[in-house]
Amino acid sequence: MDLKRILLDLMPGRLVRIFAAPYVAGKGVASGVGKADEIHAKQGLSTTLDLLGEEVFKREDVEATVQVYFRMIEAVKDRPFVTISLKPTQLGIHESEAYCEENIRRIVAAAAPQGTHITLDMEDHTLTDVTLRIFKSIRNDFDNFGTVLQSRLFRTPDDIRNLHAKPCKVRICIGIYKEPADIALQEKPEMKEKLFECMQLLLEHGHYPEIATHDEPLIRRCIQHLDQKGVARDAYEFQMLLGVPRAELQREIVERGQIMRLYVPFAEDWRFATHYLKRRLGANPAMAFMVMKNMLRL
Ligand SMILES: Cc1cc2nc3c(=O)[nH]c(=O)nc-3n(C[C@H](O)[C@H](O)[C@H](O)COP(=O)(O)OP(=O)(O)OC[C@H]3O[C@@H](n4cnc5c(N)ncnc54)[C@H](O)[C@@H]3O)c2cc1C
Repeated sequence: MDLKRILLDLMPGRLVRIFAAPYVAGKGVASGVGKADEIHAKQGLSTTLDLLGEEVFKREDVEATVQVYFRMIEAVKDRPFVTISLKPTQLGIHESEAYCEENIRRIVAAAAPQGTHITLDMEDHTLTDVTLRIFKSIRNDFDNFGTVLQSRLFRTPDDIRNLHAKPCKVRICIGIYKEPADIALQEKPEMKEKLFECMQLLLEHGHYPEIATHDEPLIRRCIQHLDQKGVARDAYEFQMLLGVPRAELQREIVERGQIMRLYVPFAEDWRFATHYLKRRLGANPAMAFMVMKNMLRL
């Protein structure tokens, strides 16, 4: 384990929360929805709301998570600019695939009548197969359900080819988890080249890519390529994380008449949120230093 990781592991929860403050809407469903309203009104941005948490083990905590998602769905019912993101590790995957699928299915079913879209986030490679199985099974029955693929994984082009016969909304990102060299690219420039290729492959297979990156040259390259190909501007969208300073580029994308969506996490129980944030920082220590840099600039 390197020094950065050890320091992150030792970092107290309260400090993790301070580091994460610019990237988190706050505590409670109302803070998430309030942030979504604010950035929609001020900047014309769409959002995907995420309840922070993973490594939720006890059934009572998983059920409490499902109930928060139900409240979230109710709260966003008249907000077509808001979607919802969730993770297998907060919804019972530690107990069993069937239990996790049932919980996610309940949430997707609750959101379906009002047309709220749900995205199943992708976690580390040990969960890729099970996440895709759950995704495909629920996608058979519901249209308001999408998932995430990570361009760093060698398997991703095959996953795109085998995703689903129906068109799907797929967030394509490089992936935040460091993965072993025998299954994944190790260098960011290559991951980003692959992201560009995967975005094209998704379109070729009739899917709707949600291009999730903060890399400005990559975003401009995607825009130029898609415009040249005459791809309709409502056939894809861009996504970024709340708190990453990209206001000018976001404004440009909105002015093109396209969806620019921010991932807006909020906490309900800091126990799970802190654990999640630490794991994210630990999975990609460079992020902690970017956060520090941005905080000092504020
Ligand atoms: C909407 C969204 C959803 C995501 N969902 C998933 C998921 O389900 N599974 C998954 O594995 N990964 C997910 N990710 C993370 C993603 O895989 C990357 O790890 C992350 O976006 C950084 O990669 P990048 O392409 O922005 O390039 P980078 O080279 O990492 O970033 C480009 C530049 O953006 C800035 N930047 C990037 N991140 C931050 C930050 N946190 N704070 C401050 N500045 C920053 C920096 O200036 C950096 O130089 C998601 C990302 C986004 C935007």
